[in-house]
Amino acid sequence: MKIKVGLGYDLHRLVPGRKLIIGGVSLPSDAGCLAHSDGDVLVHSMIDSLLGAGGLGDIGQWFPDSDPAYRGISSLKLLERVMVEVRKIGLTVLNTDSVVILEKPRLGPYFQAMKANLAPLLGLEPEHIGLKAKTGEGLGEVGSGQAVACWTVALLGHGD
Ligand code: MG
Repeated sequence: MKIKVGLGYDLHRLVPGRKLIIGGVSLPSDAGCLAHSDGDVLVHSMIDSLLGAGGLGDIGQWFPDSDPAYRGISSLKLLERVMVEVRKIGLTVLNTDSVVILEKPRLGPYFQAMKANLAPLLGLEPEHIGLKAKTGEGLGEVGSGQAVACWTVALLGHGD
């Protein structure tokens, strides 16, 4: 089996009056991501890791924020679309691992629900989706609650 690794990163500004959606789960928060889509930072970093592994470019090329078709769209829909392309070139996702960095709320209680959203789209068992959360320790834009960031690595396989 040929193995491909991909790395994805995303960051969104947090503003009052928007929903905070991470991993397709709507979280209790008085601020949410400023974005053209639903601003799901975890799914966006995951998409970029998959596109990177497949040599398929990046999320901005596939879903330009100038395109009204993607206004307010659930990022799970974008992930679904990307998985069509990943499968088209013969790749299978073996596992993903993500670190979400934000001050609040604590994400641990929501990981199971996030994995339930992501697993069927990625074609993975939930235990092959790593989710972790960190705070910014009060430092910088993330630490002051002005932003949320996420890193994802994905391992994909090709053939037997
Ligand atoms: Mg994004």
